[in-house]
Amino acid sequence: MRLLHILFFVLPFIAASAQETYPKDYFRAPLDIPLLLSGTFGELRSNHFHSGTDIKTQQREGLRAFAIGDGYVSRINISPWGYGKALYITHPNGYTSVYAHLQKFGPEIEAYVKKQQYEQESYSIELFPQPDELPVKQSDVIAYTGNTGSSGGPHLHFEIRDTETEKPINPLFFGLDVKDAQSPVIQELYAYPLSDSSHVNRSGDPIPVNFRRQPDGTLLADKIDASGPIGFGVRAYDRQDLAYNKNGAYAVQMSVNGTTYLYYDFKTFSFAESRHINTLIDYGHYVRERQRIQKCFISPGNTLNIYNKRLNEGIIDIRDGMDYTIIIEVSDFEGNTNVLKIPVNGKQQEILHKKEIKITPNYLRTKRENIYAEGKVTVFFPAYTFYEDLYFDLKDNGNGSYEIHNEEVPVQRNYTLSFDVSDYPETERKQWFIAHLDRRGRPSYETTFKRGNTFSTHTKRLGTFTLEKDSTAPKIIPVNFKDRQWLSNYHYLKVKISDDLSGIASYRATINGRWVLMEYEPKDNTLTYDFEDLTLEGSRHDLEISVTDNVGNSTTFKATFHRAKK
Ligand SMILES: [Zn+2]
Repeated sequence: MRLLHILFFVLPFIAASAQETYPKDYFRAPLDIPLLLSGTFGELRSNHFHSGTDIKTQQREGLRAFAIGDGYVSRINISPWGYGKALYITHPNGYTSVYAHLQKFGPEIEAYVKKQQYEQESYSIELFPQPDELPVKQSDVIAYTGNTGSSGGPHLHFEIRDTETEKPINPLFFGLDVKDAQSPVIQELYAYPLSDSSHVNRSGDPIPVNFRRQPDGTLLADKIDASGPIGFGVRAYDRQDLAYNKNGAYAVQMSVNGTTYLYYDFKTFSFAESRHINTLIDYGHYVRERQRIQKCFISPGNTLNIYNKRLNEGIIDIRDGMDYTIIIEVSDFEGNTNVLKIPVNGKQQEILHKKEIKITPNYLRTKRENIYAEGKVTVFFPAYTFYEDLYFDLKDNGNGSYEIHNEEVPVQRNYTLSFDVSDYPETERKQWFIAHLDRRGRPSYETTFKRGNTFSTHTKRLGTFTLEKDSTAPKIIPVNFKDRQWLSNYHYLKVKISDDLSGIASYRATINGRWVLMEYEPKDNTLTYDFEDLTLEGSRHDLEISVTDNVGNSTTFKATFHRAKK
């Protein structure tokens, strides 16, 4: 007991003193415009924490991005998804800077990348140049900002990582000049009963709690009656000056009668733990409402390392007849804080709203492997697929589709879902695939492996699955030219590609039989060829583009164009 007591006092102190101090004046800013943010580090995103700072680029593309310090280009990654066109610079002081969603690279790097793309005959590419290949000096123009990959609008996604561990660090520690004098906003408060016998205001289910602003600027919640172990969660955002974007807050602290129970912030995290965001938020609420409540207690299976303080895992044991004052503080990086005070009165009462748990014959212990079958499907869950033990639910809907438990439960690793397809004639199987159906019944392709009489997929999704058939080949439509047209003054060739069901898997384009680079932009379904890439001999040219969907249906588009030799 005594030792534990000492540890509680000493541990946070060790954690705090072991903390690194980051150089504030070593790097310059990656852009030469005032820094306004459309995303903060650690911000809660879909299945991950945001690993960088999103810097607004005045609603346009093509702004110069600068090397923040001397170093060398250590990695280049291009994909139609994710970071889009991304560049990594390793600096001699132990940090690597990352610039993503770029429109294009600076001339020297762009030439280096295109050469590799033509050699590998691929738009998507990942390169790890040697230190002497692409050295950079601070303030070199290394790229132009864009909107490539999974980006919702033009901006620069900017990261700083520890080179050795690859852990992203909050870039604001390195002296980025972002004006922020505004406190975070707390939008909602929820109270969570955390055992069968506990309640909040006689409810065994989580309930929203009202609060209002006091004259001193703090927030005061309505008094709660409760008993047993309970917890709290808040929905909050933070705004910086000069922009209206609702970004993520930096830190959350909760105290009970003056004792800090829980504290976490976003200094750094590891990519390996990023998916565990689904244990930090109320995941079921997120699936239902698309809104993220950050829990101030630590749920089973939550192994996040963002907590500096976790007394009783943030769970408050409310005793009969006792009064409690709970204070939740949400802060931004600059230390602007919003304070919410919650008075709680310990009162044992009959629970009117009982938590409903569907009991099934399949009690799943997550620390073991589990396998279940129903009708035509089999599911195999490796150990620790789920964060907690649960009554697993597997249902045959009778129409060929199956309910694999329900989507409101987070999954932390891939499981295997298999369909027996022996009823399907072998000649027809090629066009069938496993599809996940969303809440409106819209199918999406799951990477389907076919072996013998079994289709299987590895997925982290739960919910409705079925087999779908895609018998329609992709479409290819020219955007800015016609067959047999003169294109002497054109800079680009552009086509639109689409597929009705399983989605685009691959494409290939040639001019006069030679592979050409077409950049794929899924946001507007276009493939674009840049006439700067190649010197074309003669004036008559044959363009051929073929596009293949995920079940192997393919379309080939052919056109001839003319171009005067320059
Ligand atoms: Zn970003």
